[in-house]
Amino acid sequence: MLPDFRVRQRDYLLEIGRAITQELDLDKLLARILNVSVEMLAGQAGLIALRGEEGGWNVATSHGIPPAFLNYLDPLLKEIPDQEDPAKFEIPQINSLLKKVTRVASLGFLDGVGLPLVFRSRVVGMIFIFRNYSGRFSGNDRALLQSFADQAAIAVRNAQFYAQIRREKQRMDTLLDSAADGILILNAENLIERCNPAFANLWGMPISKIVERPHADVIRWTRVESRLTLEQAEAQGWPLTPHATLYVEGDLERPDLMPLPVGITYAPLLTPAGHLINIVATVRDITHFREADEIKRTFISVISHELKTPVALIKGYVGTLRRDDATWDRTIVQDSLAVIEEEADRLTELIENLLDATRLQSGTLSLNRSDLAIEHTAERVADRFKIQAPGHEFICDFPSDFPVIMGDEDRLEQVLFNLLSNGVKYSPNGGEIRITGQVRPERIVICVSDQGPGIAPGDIPYIFDRFYRASEASRKTKGAGLGLFLSRAVVEAHGGRIWVDPMPDQGARICFSLPR
Ligand code: ADP
Repeated sequence: MLPDFRVRQRDYLLEIGRAITQELDLDKLLARILNVSVEMLAGQAGLIALRGEEGGWNVATSHGIPPAFLNYLDPLLKEIPDQEDPAKFEIPQINSLLKKVTRVASLGFLDGVGLPLVFRSRVVGMIFIFRNYSGRFSGNDRALLQSFADQAAIAVRNAQFYAQIRREKQRMDTLLDSAADGILILNAENLIERCNPAFANLWGMPISKIVERPHADVIRWTRVESRLTLEQAEAQGWPLTPHATLYVEGDLERPDLMPLPVGITYAPLLTPAGHLINIVATVRDITHFREADEIKRTFISVISHELKTPVALIKGYVGTLRRDDATWDRTIVQDSLAVIEEEADRLTELIENLLDATRLQSGTLSLNRSDLAIEHTAERVADRFKIQAPGHEFICDFPSDFPVIMGDEDRLEQVLFNLLSNGVKYSPNGGEIRITGQVRPERIVICVSDQGPGIAPGDIPYIFDRFYRASEASRKTKGAGLGLFLSRAVVEAHGGRIWVDPMPDQGARICFSLPR
């Protein structure tokens, strides 16, 4: 038979062993270990201090010490070297320290013992037991305390590992929640285990309506541009290696919204034995790439058409004029040169517009502002057109006290030039082109109207877009669809707005406002 206290010691050790595997709350565990140690060593009080992450010692739990007196123990803790290596670790002469401390705190402890908590050759904390009677702690007492200290060290490391894992998980959650791309985590059966807010947003449904659904239920394609979808790739044995990511691009069907162009990258997570555990799907909205692609395509077609026509005309006229076998009278030569000049001007204008559009895109279109009487600018532009377009009548209609504004004269002249040139171009039968100015409390409004066929309501939302040309316009007239785009940019850079009057009496009427 074991002596009674050895039986209790064994039972306590067993109980603590069990608690360590079941309880992850470190404070509760340490309190339990300390209570048992105090009891087994017939002490009155005790404490466990742990090494802080940045070094130093903090009391993790105490027994039999009134909380108010805990700070009296600080000097004791400060004497202990901040040392992780057990070989160099030393608990200073406890008893003389204890005397100092307990005298001040009038706790009456007379004897004490302390041991380091060592786990995998690192000091993770300390345990102290105090008695209020003198009588040395025996070798047996120390051995007993050592076994509890070892248990406590395991508990501390477990808890630290657990906290570390929890921190990792929090990091991962933050990463998922803050990612701009949609992210889905699928299990080995392709069920959606997790979904981040960005995906829910993109798909137009709350996260709760997405998780736990099969992948094929949520990711449905109205059009696929890649060779294989996830399901098709899996049917062919994907993934064979952990690095075999799969990319699928196409239009994603959405419950209450229009299909969205997306690119999805699927990355498999395999066990070392090669079994699939998870698939991480990153879903990227590629609307902008598509738009950029579309713009590039339009750009190339517009440019090839718009550049080729004048060049072909110039070449044609020059070729004719240079023929050795013919002599041209003066009028023919003059007319041909006029065409050449006109086409060269058109080319210059187009190139300048393109350059401006590029500057706009790169954010380097800058304004050169000064005091500006815009009614004079309008008159000057109108005068230029009077010569070029004798079939039209140009009227400038500004009140006499029209205010001076701050603006970039060249840029605003360009806006007026674009609007007037559209007025002329889109009313081929002539008529009146009127520029009116109105004064409002905080801004001025300038409108340019013509008497042509006007702008179809369906085109109104798009005419300020880059390269946009109404189909009727592109059949009958020349142009790159850049004039209004650039005009809008200039007006907005001035802090103003440009719009189409939806219901003019006749023809088209485009207005813009500028702050006073
Ligand atoms: P472009 O004239 O080179 O086509 P703009 O950006 O100046 O480019 O104009 C865009 C489109 O807006 C034109 O193609 C035309 O369809 C329409 N539009 C602009 N001004 C008028 C107008 N005064 N009357 C009718 N349609 C117009």
